[in-house]
Amino acid sequence: MGEKQLSELSKKTVDSEFFTLIPDGYKKGKVKYVVITGSVISGIGKGTVTSSIAKLLEERGLKVSPMKAEAYYNVDAGTLNPFRHGEVFVLDDGTETDMDLGSYERFIDRNLTKENYLTTGKILSEIIEKERAGKYLGRDVQFIPHVTGETKKYFRQLAVDSRADVVLIEIGGTVGDYENMYLLEAARQLRYEEGEENVCFINLTYIFEPKTLGEQKSKAAQLGIKKMIEMGLMPDIVICRSENPVHDNIREKISVFSNVPLNRVIGLHDSENFYQIPLMLKEKGLDKAIFESLKIEEKKLQNNNSLEKWTEAMTVKNPKKKITIGIAGKYTGLKDSYISIIKALEHCEAEFKVKIEVKWIEATEIETGKKKVEDVIKGVDGLIVPGGYGKRGAEGKIECVKYCREKNIPFLGICYGLQMALIEFARNVLGKEDANTIEIDSETKQPVICLLPDQKKIEGLGGNNRLGGFDIKVKENTIAFKLYGKNTIRERFRHRYECNPEFIKEFEEKGMVFSGKSPKVDIMQILELPKHKFFLGTQFHPELTSRPLKPSPCFKGLIKACL
Ligand code: GLN
Repeated sequence: MGEKQLSELSKKTVDSEFFTLIPDGYKKGKVKYVVITGSVISGIGKGTVTSSIAKLLEERGLKVSPMKAEAYYNVDAGTLNPFRHGEVFVLDDGTETDMDLGSYERFIDRNLTKENYLTTGKILSEIIEKERAGKYLGRDVQFIPHVTGETKKYFRQLAVDSRADVVLIEIGGTVGDYENMYLLEAARQLRYEEGEENVCFINLTYIFEPKTLGEQKSKAAQLGIKKMIEMGLMPDIVICRSENPVHDNIREKISVFSNVPLNRVIGLHDSENFYQIPLMLKEKGLDKAIFESLKIEEKKLQNNNSLEKWTEAMTVKNPKKKITIGIAGKYTGLKDSYISIIKALEHCEAEFKVKIEVKWIEATEIETGKKKVEDVIKGVDGLIVPGGYGKRGAEGKIECVKYCREKNIPFLGICYGLQMALIEFARNVLGKEDANTIEIDSETKQPVICLLPDQKKIEGLGGNNRLGGFDIKVKENTIAFKLYGKNTIRERFRHRYECNPEFIKEFEEKGMVFSGKSPKVDIMQILELPKHKFFLGTQFHPELTSRPLKPSPCFKGLIKACL
C-alpha cells in the first residue's frame, strides 16, 4: 500500500472497513517494524530474544524502540501478584509494567515510557471511553476493525513518539491463544498496510528433545508455525529454542515447512551465560536475516564491534572470589519476582569479576519458627531485604535485619526493607516495643512508618502509591554520597508508606543517619548506620536502574563491603 493510499484510508475511518488511524507526523516507510511472536510454549525467553534483537540493532547504529504488547485485561501491571506474573517493573514515568520492559531497558541502556507497554485492558478501556463519548459516530464497535485499528494506532504512535528506526513489538503469550488474537491480527494488517519490506515477523518456537527418544523432534514447532500461517502471518525468521544445539536436519524441516529460507532458521539452545545471547544470535546471522527481510542496506550501518566488547566485559571467566548474598523475601519460590535484583547482582559480578551466589531466605519460615535466623543467615556474606507488601513474612524480615545489624553483616534494605530496618531499630535500639508500620498494624502506638498527609487524601488501591522516578537530595559526607558521588540523584519508587517524621530526631540521636531526602518535602529516602560495615536502606528501588556496565551504586556498595 502506498503512502497516499494509506493517508486516504486514515481520512475515512468512520464509514470504511479499514479504520486506519494514522497519528500526526507519521510517515510510512520511515520506520520498520519487527514483530516477535512465540509458538508451542511460553516461557522460552521471548523477552530475552526481543531484548537481544534490540541490542543487536542498536549496536549497528539503528535506534530501536521495543514494545511489549500484553494480552491480559489488566490496564497495567500494578495490581499483578509478582508470585504469579514475575516482578512489576516501574518505569521512570511511573508506569507499572511487565518485567520484560526491565530487560529491554537494561539491554539498550535507555529509559522507556508508557508508550512502550500495551495491554488489552489499556486498549479496551480507551475504546469504551471513546464509545461513551460518541466518538465512533454511530458505528457498532467491533473486534475488527476497531480493536485492531486502535492497536495499530499504538504501534504507529510509538514509531512517531520514539523517532525510532525500528519498532520492535513483542506479543505476549503464544500463537493459538484466544487472548492475543487481536494483536496478531493487528500485526497482520500492519504488514498489509506498511508493506512486506517494512514489517518482519519473527517466530520463536521450541524444539523438544524427549529423554526417552534421545533425539530432537520438530513436530510441535511445525504445528505452532502452521497456526501462525493459518492466521495469515508468514514468518520471515524462525528462532528455534532448544536444550541442545539444533541439528541441521531439524532446521531444514522447519525451513521447508514454513517457507523460511534455511539461513533464516536460527537455532538458539540453552546458554549458561545470559550475556552471550545477543552475540550468539549475531554469529548465527540473526541481524543479517533481519536486514535482508527489511531491505536495510547493511553496508550503510556502523560496525565497530561494540557488541563483542560489551559481551567480553559482561563475561566473568575466572572469578576472583565467590560470595553469597542472602535475599530475605517471601516470593522466593518464584525467582522472577526479584528479577531486577538478580540482574543488579549480575552487573556487580561483571564489575568486580566475582561470582555471586544467591541464597533465598523465606522470611515466613523464620517468622513461623520453622527455621532459626542464625541458621539461615549462616554462611551469607551480605543480606538484601527486598521490597514487599503486607504482613506475611514481615516479622521474619525484621529478625533478619536485627541479626545483620548486631553481627555487623553488610545489609541493603530496599523499600519495605528500609521500613523493616526502621521498625527493627525503633524496637530494639529506641526501645519502642510496639513500633510498626500502619500497613501491618493500623492501631500501633508507635507508627514509625505511616501515610504522609498528602497521601491520605488519595483513595483506592494503587491510587495512592508513589510511583516512578523522583529526585533525591544526598547529604554530603555520608555513605550514600560516597556511593553516588553527587548531591542530586534520581531513582524509582513504588510505595505507599513513609518514614514518620515525628520519630526522626530520636533515630538520629541513636546514630542513624538519613542521608537522602526528597528535595522539597522532608521525606526520608535513604538511611544508613555509619559505624556498621555496610548498612543502607533505600525507600526507592535501586535495582530498577542498574544496568550492565553501570551497576547500581547501592549494590556496588553492598558487594564491595562483602568483598
Ligand atoms: N509496602 C510498602 C509500602 O507500600 C513497601 C512497598 C515496596 O516495598 N515496594 O510503602
